[in-house]
Amino acid sequence: MTDRVVVVGGGFGGLNAVRALDGADVEVTVVDRTNHHLFQPLLYQVATGILPPGLIAPALRSVIKKQRNARALLADVYDLDLDAKVVRAHGPDGRPVELPYDTLIVAAGASHSYFGNDHFAEFAPGMKTIEDARYLRDGILSKFEMAEIATDPQERAEWLTFVVIGAGPTGVELVGQIAELAHVVLPRDYRTVDTHEARIILLEGASAVLPPFAPKLQAYTQRKLEKEGVEVRLNTLAVDMDHESITVKGPDGPETIRARTRIWAAGVQASPLARMLADKTGAQTDRAGRIPVNPDCSLPGHPEVFAVGDMVSLNGLPGVAQPAMQEGKYVGKVIRDRIAGKTAEPFAYFDKGTMATIGYRSAVADAFGVKVTGLIAYAMWAFIHVLYLVGWGNRLGTLYTWARGIWFGHNRAHRIITFETARDELAEGRTASGRPAPIMPPPR
Ligand SMILES: Cc1cc2nc3c(=O)[nH]c(=O)nc-3n(C[C@H](O)[C@H](O)[C@H](O)COP(=O)(O)OP(=O)(O)OC[C@H]3O[C@@H](n4cnc5c(N)ncnc54)[C@H](O)[C@@H]3O)c2cc1C
Repeated sequence: MTDRVVVVGGGFGGLNAVRALDGADVEVTVVDRTNHHLFQPLLYQVATGILPPGLIAPALRSVIKKQRNARALLADVYDLDLDAKVVRAHGPDGRPVELPYDTLIVAAGASHSYFGNDHFAEFAPGMKTIEDARYLRDGILSKFEMAEIATDPQERAEWLTFVVIGAGPTGVELVGQIAELAHVVLPRDYRTVDTHEARIILLEGASAVLPPFAPKLQAYTQRKLEKEGVEVRLNTLAVDMDHESITVKGPDGPETIRARTRIWAAGVQASPLARMLADKTGAQTDRAGRIPVNPDCSLPGHPEVFAVGDMVSLNGLPGVAQPAMQEGKYVGKVIRDRIAGKTAEPFAYFDKGTMATIGYRSAVADAFGVKVTGLIAYAMWAFIHVLYLVGWGNRLGTLYTWARGIWFGHNRAHRIITFETARDELAEGRTASGRPAPIMPPPR
């Protein structure tokens, strides 16, 4: 009988596993709680109005449509029954879905960690999903609208203060783009407010931005951000916040900053499915909630269950796209080898380097021992990211949108504010004089 392979998660790890099984004598079911394969590294461009969501989130069903032995299901997995070999999930309307398997691949990724301060989530949203990015886009753009109608200078300053917590690649990319929005793209569009006045603050608990990068690249990034008008505050932690302010503790002691926008880009926590697998196999998760796996990505005592990507700890690899993609592809090969009666080699990682954009046509890249900055790094970054986007239509669409909005002009074509989300945030805010923030049009 043909083996049934169930893949939980159609992100980088899961999709690569599915693709690696193309043509194999197996029936693959990939189950995801979203209907799309998300290219997370470009989420910040959705959040800042550069790209529309569809270009970085093609429908999973469409992505695998040519693979005859694979199907996609939209369902939220809540149980992995390793004894009965069944995955249990809820369909979109809540109905139970049961997926029996012979081989299971779990690639459920990670979400934000507020390091024990879970109440921060209400005041400083993170960015992990398309919904998060759209929510942030609404939040960021609507603050400029509020500044335009505010008459009190102090209140206007609060609407124009943006604080990003965490100076990893996501935090750096976000502040770079918010600075470009405020200082380059938007000034011509507003009549009352001068968006140059926007204050953009990047907080980092460590002593340098981009903590995993080489010191030369860190120093370049900090200089570049400061030149673009970003206030970089190192050795500084967020210790408290509410809807209108954030309290930070840095080398000069505590300080409360009035700011209507706070964005969390600091911590990562593995999917709860990692903990579930650990509980069922007697394994110990690490501080980020990741489950350790065997050198072939299988679980101890369960050679038929594999876990890959952000939710696993393997050989000290970081939670970034390349390990997830390579592990997913590798597990597909292990399954093929098993069918052919061969024993697979342990997983070996091929380090292709790291990179991050800083702002207008500028990036840092560290690949194969070569450290590059500026326009060359930006060109490398753009090439790699377009290459890894799924589908030619999305690649061409992204290139066209970048050319129109960034390379040959300063525009952001995707600046829609959908009030359903913006309303939530603004309704919580209060004007400096204590009046409630203006009410947005009601949702449809
Ligand atoms: C904002 C941001 C920027 C990033 N930038 C970069 C970058 O520049 N370079 C880089 O290398 N890496 C970057 N990363 C990290 C990279 O995106 C991840 O390492 C990678 O996506 C991990 O792949 P994965 O398959 O483990 O998880 P994911 O790609 O997150 O996929 C997990 C999938 O599982 C699904 N899922 C989760 N739980 C369930 C459930 N219970 N039921 C059903 N489905 C479920 C999710 O919907 C998702 O589709 C970034 C991440 C973020 C959030």
